[in-house]
Amino acid sequence: MASPIPSLAQLVSEASSLYKNMFADDTPQIAVCAPGRVNLIGEHTDYNNGYVLPMALPLVTVVVGSPSINGDTVVVTASEHADEPRRVDLSLPKEGSTSSPCWANYVRGVIHHYRARPVPGFRAVVVSSVPLGGGLSSSASLEVAFYTFLQQLRPDDGDKLAKALACQQAEHTHAGVPCGIMDQFVSALGTEGHALLIDCRSLEAIPVPLADPQVVILITNSNVKHSLASSEYTVRRRQCEDAAAILGKSSLRDATMKDLEGSRAKLDDVTYRRARHVIAEINRTVKAAEALKNGAYQEFGQLMVESHNSLRDLYEVSCKELDELVSAAMEVDGVFGSRMTGGGFGGCTVTLLKATVVDGTIQHVQERYHGSPTFFVTTPSAGARALQLS
Ligand code: ADP
Ligand code: MG
Repeated sequence: MASPIPSLAQLVSEASSLYKNMFADDTPQIAVCAPGRVNLIGEHTDYNNGYVLPMALPLVTVVVGSPSINGDTVVVTASEHADEPRRVDLSLPKEGSTSSPCWANYVRGVIHHYRARPVPGFRAVVVSSVPLGGGLSSSASLEVAFYTFLQQLRPDDGDKLAKALACQQAEHTHAGVPCGIMDQFVSALGTEGHALLIDCRSLEAIPVPLADPQVVILITNSNVKHSLASSEYTVRRRQCEDAAAILGKSSLRDATMKDLEGSRAKLDDVTYRRARHVIAEINRTVKAAEALKNGAYQEFGQLMVESHNSLRDLYEVSCKELDELVSAAMEVDGVFGSRMTGGGFGGCTVTLLKATVVDGTIQHVQERYHGSPTFFVTTPSAGARALQLS
């Protein structure tokens, strides 16, 4: 069975109760949410200025809170899996290094990069239905939710792209993760019922309708995360920069397959394969968006599988668990396509399939997978927004 997805009302109520408990019966005045995301296709292309095709999820981070009475800034997180302290007073000097990926660093980063300064003191509680560290971008949803919270406290100009860019900066400078723009972009600008074809060079996005009741986007969490994930991410980024430099381009977005083949002798085998993935994946993503727009699900699914195989064989960021989940899903009639999604080395797969075969697919994958997967049946949801408090 797929895991239930808590409603926004449930999350707001949970956060509000915790707020009352933590802050002596005070009630929150502000509530906001920002979604996690799943990338349908276009993997490891955002930091190469390429195209990506993610959608915002009904899995969200909710922040409730109020301006603080004494000017302090206290944040509480309710995440079951967070191994860091649950309550942090951000007005006190920070202990430890900024590079440690403790959740409070993300909040500090957002405050640091917020565009309408100075940020007044506040009390806030965070709850989230996005699995932490599962490749569905709990980190971007946390950043974008906090930025949206600050916008209620001290309004800025409301520019959503500027918000996404500021949150990306927060992740770079305060969490030490040199991520591309995809996660923060779709969390801030996602549109209900649509995936977003984002051009990561021009930072323009085209919404692609994805609201056909006959098809479903199924997310399968492998529930594994290999420690290679962050170090290999940095290595891949460097390999792409090297490849672009050898091809005489400012990024791989500007390189064609012909450019690559023409310079093959100048590239070592690994760098060649990395560049080949990126250039082909950028093309695949544009084709896939067109296929989706036309309801050509078979073609879309085929492109998803090609993407997975390329990430496995050329970019080498898959792992046996993700490969197993994809192979198992592809054995079921009515499954159009399946692939690893996110950075790789664990996390989730995304599968496009007929609504009628969802239960059978979940059962089949459960039987075939050697670990304990969890499943989410998802629909494209809206980006970050303020919520009514009852
Ligand atoms: P992903 O973004 O794919 O979930 P990351 O490793 O980028 O994985 O981010 C996970 C980290 O984000 C967690 O380890 C934690 O520090 C932080 N985080 C995100 N959301 C929350 C939350 N609701 N509560 C506490 N920490 C969170
Ligand atoms: Mg993240």
